[in-house]
Amino acid sequence: MIKELAEFGKRIRTGHDALKDEPISIDLVINEDGSFNSFLVIEKISRKAEALNSKKGKARLLLDKPEEVICYGGELSNKKHQLFLDKLSVYEDLELLKPVFSFYNSNKENGIERASLEFESQISEKERGGNIAFRVNDIRIHEQQVVYDAIIERFEFNQIEKLKGGKGNCSICGSSKYPITKDTHGMIKNVPKGQKAGCAFVSYNEKAFESYGLLKNLNSNICTNCAKNYVEGLNWLLSNGYLKGVSRQTNCRIFGNDTAMIYWTKDEEQIDEINWLDNPDVGEITNLIDSVFSGDQRIMRGIKSNWFYSCTLSGAAARIAIRDWIEISLEDYRKNIAKWFQDIAIKNDGVLKYSRLYFLAQAGHNTKLSNDPTISRIANHLWKSALLKDYVPPLWILASVLKRIRYIEPVEDGKKRTDPISLERASLIRLIINRNNSKNGTIMKEQLDTADVGTAYMFGRIFAVQVAIQRAAIGKNINAGIREVFFSSASTNPAPAFGRIMRLTQRHLTKLKQDDSGAFTVLDRKLQELCRTINPSDFPSLFTLEEQGQFALGYYHQKQKDYEDFKEHQNSKLKSTIEEE
Ligand SMILES: [Zn+2]
Repeated sequence: MIKELAEFGKRIRTGHDALKDEPISIDLVINEDGSFNSFLVIEKISRKAEALNSKKGKARLLLDKPEEVICYGGELSNKKHQLFLDKLSVYEDLELLKPVFSFYNSNKENGIERASLEFESQISEKERGGNIAFRVNDIRIHEQQVVYDAIIERFEFNQIEKLKGGKGNCSICGSSKYPITKDTHGMIKNVPKGQKAGCAFVSYNEKAFESYGLLKNLNSNICTNCAKNYVEGLNWLLSNGYLKGVSRQTNCRIFGNDTAMIYWTKDEEQIDEINWLDNPDVGEITNLIDSVFSGDQRIMRGIKSNWFYSCTLSGAAARIAIRDWIEISLEDYRKNIAKWFQDIAIKNDGVLKYSRLYFLAQAGHNTKLSNDPTISRIANHLWKSALLKDYVPPLWILASVLKRIRYIEPVEDGKKRTDPISLERASLIRLIINRNNSKNGTIMKEQLDTADVGTAYMFGRIFAVQVAIQRAAIGKNINAGIREVFFSSASTNPAPAFGRIMRLTQRHLTKLKQDDSGAFTVLDRKLQELCRTINPSDFPSLFTLEEQGQFALGYYHQKQKDYEDFKEHQNSKLKSTIEEE
């Protein structure tokens, strides 16, 4: 995995390794003689400066925080300030830095000392956290080419020095061209739940890594160049659509509040399919499914193979926990995504619908807590299901969505009660049942399946008709209708529930017969046809988890079918059975 990340980093890296863009918040303006002029708050910009793998125990040449630059913060800053001065002294031969040296040494009283006194009055408290850069007249010192050249020269000298003490070949690139050092690799930013300052990707004793078959202390075998490559690669992927202020196609999804999925291809290639997971485009999805499953192999043939990678990670304070690593050929990637859309398709209002992956994840959790980690766990399983066609998401997700459905929220004032089985929930149930059942058992269809006469599925269908009969007989303003009162018991304890619901339904039918004989005839026939295929005495006293899911899908499919059947009945009470959604 690190190898692929390093390869990717190499692809996107630009400029010299010794330099890196760093933000600037404040200009410290000094005169030629080193005397202090003023502090200027500037709108945050980024400019190249000396690159540091980590700030720990280090200061950056000519651009750093107030602690380092003017020893702001009293004694605690002494150490940091000294690091800054030490760094500066390495470059004392640079003519351009003369005013800066005067500022700290010969003209100290008018320089650093005055600056320290003025800092708090010139810079408001909330502005004091940023980087300070030196300016003489209109020139920002650290941005000058001579300074850049000096940094690069120093960097290359150090590389050679380190190589002398190098320890053989790098485990990633296999070469001994760059040194392997004990230095911490660069920090990874933007990891959900990670430290603001960044997290270390590879570190000693990282359990997550061992489980991926990587050796402990691996980082002692990564050369400085490969380390830099993978760090740059990861940071680029995690920067979530923005890189140096330029919008680009994002390579990252943040799910919940603690999980990020990043993905990329080995060779650069447009991969739109992944965006359809969040933004399903029915036309494009149909084309993809057709081309993948119609045996049309033209797209596959003669094209050099490329690879798709995805990595799921979460922050754990200073470290990154790797949850998953996926590595598939681009051909498989397309096939697998096509399979995903087939598996989550649900017919709704007469057309196939594909839900957004994140909506499916939301459909599966059953608390209202916004920081509930369940959503990101479910999202991760769904992400894997989308990218790996044989991946079987765990059954606890089914339990979770069913629990959510059974818990019917009370009607709030003025708010219409909606059906607890939404399109997304139906879709999620179908996916989980089918993936868990792919080797044996019935595969649930995307729409009403008249060939499926399983007890749970049939009872779900009957229940939908019973709900419709009540609505036709009494109207839609029912406070506690059959669905609200009996959904939970019918889907879990069918035998006792069925008799009670049937008695109610008979009463509703009697009323409907008097009020609207047309609607009565249609609904009564529907109910009878369904009841003919099952024997209520076969109803078990308990449905299994999977049967509960089949019940829910049977209910949903039947409701959708009725919706299509009754749409045209403008004046009949049949219409009232379908108005809800
Ligand atoms: Zn290497």
